[in-house]
Amino acid sequence: MKTIDIRSDTVTKPSPEMRQVIASAEVGDDVLGDDPTVQELERYVADLFEKEASLFVPSGTMGNQVALRSHSHRGWELLCDRECHIVNYEAAAPVIHSGLLVNLISTDRGMITADTVRSLIRPKNIHCPETKMVALENTHNHRGGTILPQDEIVKVRDVCDEFDLVFHLDGARIWNVHAATGTPLPELTRPFHSVSVCLSKGLGAPIGSMILGSAEFIVKCRRNRKIFGGGMRQVGLIAAAGLYAVKNNIGRLVEDHEKARVLAEKLNELEAFDVDLSRVETNIVLLEITTGEPAEALLERMKTVGVLGVQFGPRTIRFVTHMDVTLAECEEAVERISAILQH
Ligand SMILES: *Cc1c(COP(=O)(O)O)cnc(C)c1O
Repeated sequence: MKTIDIRSDTVTKPSPEMRQVIASAEVGDDVLGDDPTVQELERYVADLFEKEASLFVPSGTMGNQVALRSHSHRGWELLCDRECHIVNYEAAAPVIHSGLLVNLISTDRGMITADTVRSLIRPKNIHCPETKMVALENTHNHRGGTILPQDEIVKVRDVCDEFDLVFHLDGARIWNVHAATGTPLPELTRPFHSVSVCLSKGLGAPIGSMILGSAEFIVKCRRNRKIFGGGMRQVGLIAAAGLYAVKNNIGRLVEDHEKARVLAEKLNELEAFDVDLSRVETNIVLLEITTGEPAEALLERMKTVGVLGVQFGPRTIRFVTHMDVTLAECEEAVERISAILQH
C-alpha cells in the first residue's frame, strides 16, 4: 500500500529534471560573493516581484527572522495575528533574536485590518512600548490556507506610512495566492517593506527561501544572515533547484488547489468531520473531528492505513496537497479514512 503523505507541501522530493539542473549547476563561494547561480536566482526572484533585491536563505524561518532583525530595535512592538507562523512555529525567535515585544491579534482568517492597526498604536511617551511593526501571513497557514484581502492590505500600508511602521509579509505561500486569484506577484507584495517567500513548499525545491526588499535593506539582511549562521558556500547547487522551481512550478499550483477542494468536499461528506469549505481557497484542508476522538488518536489510526496528516489542534487535523500527490490519491485517502471510521 502506497503511503499518501499529505502532512505538508514541504514533503515533495526533487524531480529528475530538478536533479539534472542541480548536478550541472555552476557554483562559487557565495559567502565571498561569487556563486553565479545564487546571483542569478537572487536577480530572477527580485525581478519577478519587482523588488530591488533579494537574498537566498536556508529556511522560511530564517527569512522571516533575518528580515525582522534587519528592520528593528530591541523592545519594538510587533503586531501579528495570534495564529501566525512567525510566533507559533518559529520557537520564540522574535524575542530571542530581535528582542521584539509581540502583540498577538485575534482575527478570523488572518487579516489584521487597517482600523485595528490604527487602534493599537500606542501613544508616544516614555511609559509605552513603541508600536513599530506589522507582519501579515498570506496565505495564512493556521487559518486554513486563507487568502488575505488585498484592498485591506493596501489600507494597512497607508496606516504604516502615517505612523512610520514597518510592514513585513510572511509570504511562504504567496505563490498560492497568485495561482488562486491571478493577481500578479508584484501587486501582492508591493505594499510590504519586506517579504519572505519559500521555494521549498508548493514549488517543490528541496531547500530554500528568499527575502525581498530594497537594495539597502538586503545589504543589512546579508550581514544578519551571516550573524545567524546562514552564510553558505557552494550553495548554487541548491539555488539551481530553486531557480528551476520558480521557472517551472508556479503555474501548476492550481492543480494542488483542485486536489484540496476535492479532498475537502469528500471529507466534509463524512459524518465524523466538519470542513469549513469557505476556507479551502488554496492547498490546505482543515478537518474538524466531530466524534469527540482526539486528533492525535485519529492520526495514529490514519497512519495504519497509510494516510499522513498533522495535528493542528485538539480536534483538528491539517492536510496539504502538493505536486507529489495525485487527485486519485486524494480520493483514495478519503476512502481509506472512511473505512477506519467504521470501526
Ligand atoms: C513553512 C512556513 C514558513 C517557513 O518554515 P521553514 O520550516 O522554516 O522553512 C514560514 N511561514 C509559513 C506561513 C510557513 O508555512
